Amino acid sequence: MTPKIARFLAERQPATPCLVVDTDRVAENFRALRRALPLAQIYYAVKANPAPAVLDRLVTLGSRFDAAGIEEVEACLAAGARPAAISFGNTIKKVSAIRRAHAAGVTMFAFDSIEELEKLARHAPGSQVYCRILVENEGADWPLSRKFGTTIETARDLMLRAGELGLDPFGLSFHVGSQQTSTAAYEAAIGRVAMLFTDLKDAGVNVRMVNLGGGFPTRYRDDVPDIDQFASAIMGAMTEHFGNALPEMVVEPGRFIVGDAGVVSSEVVLVCHRHKDDPVRWVYLDIGRFGGLAETEGEAIKYRITTPHDGGPTGPVAIAGPTCDGADILYEKSNYRLPLALAGGERVELLSTGAYVSTYASQCFNGFAPLEEHYI
Ligand SMILES: *Cc1c(COP(=O)(O)O)cnc(C)c1O
Repeated sequence: MTPKIARFLAERQPATPCLVVDTDRVAENFRALRRALPLAQIYYAVKANPAPAVLDRLVTLGSRFDAAGIEEVEACLAAGARPAAISFGNTIKKVSAIRRAHAAGVTMFAFDSIEELEKLARHAPGSQVYCRILVENEGADWPLSRKFGTTIETARDLMLRAGELGLDPFGLSFHVGSQQTSTAAYEAAIGRVAMLFTDLKDAGVNVRMVNLGGGFPTRYRDDVPDIDQFASAIMGAMTEHFGNALPEMVVEPGRFIVGDAGVVSSEVVLVCHRHKDDPVRWVYLDIGRFGGLAETEGEAIKYRITTPHDGGPTGPVAIAGPTCDGADILYEKSNYRLPLALAGGERVELLSTGAYVSTYASQCFNGFAPLEEHYI
């Protein structure tokens, strides 16, 4: 937790549950990535946290933006981003969204099927397009595989077709999966894409950009490699495969930019035992799976939790949300332990909750209002 967030929580005691985001930390993360990968253009993946305060700050730092939908495109424009600095990166777009983005001046679009490519040719004629390749998501705590991306063979055909359709076959992209903890995942993906890139060049296609996607991890309960390790693995693989003819490089970080900039403050609603002789206490918080912590699905993302009793003796716990839904359990199998002194009515903090939390909060399920947000 940053000192600024700690002070805000201590002085303001905001109503819980709430998310507090330190936009200075957002800026530090952006700068750290830019320092680590100076040759890459950074397109912030807006879906990780689309709050205007985050977008405004990133615009002032010269970030570009990866938008998943037309509403995100428009949020970037409202924050002052130039249309040319926005990539419409979802490979599944409504025709109306393509038309609106094109009319607003957006010129870069992703695709991974012939059907989407034809939509782009028709409704965003002449645009720069890039094809998303399916790569292994091994090593990612929040994989994205299967739903997106196409094979090398199909990508080759589609990139040739893009030119015939009057589009600019600008580049190739991949995403190694979110919260990717293995630097080798990028090396393997770069190797695959580089072969296709060279092959396309030989076939006369004017391909000139490689989009490495996002996936850079935030530290949750377990340590992760730092950004410099990812950067050196990436640059090693890029120079190995492209030599001195490096293509334009793009990265699309979401989680890395905002994850550790946010803290959720929550009230403990109840601490109890479900069975008389069970050492496991059930700790119910006023935020759960439906209040924004969707990435605890399958206990995939393991947030660090701080309490007023840290340092004291602990015992095993299961941690759950406040709703009446049986799926509203955060952690039951991940060996969480919390202080024995923890009691109902006290506040706890879930650290590194700046990414993929605020937007996942449901609309009044069980009557609970969407998550309050404070940007400081
Ligand atoms: C979600 C997404 C990102 C951001 O991923 P992170 O793991 O948050 O860095 C980047 N690019 C695309 C296409 C995405 O769908």
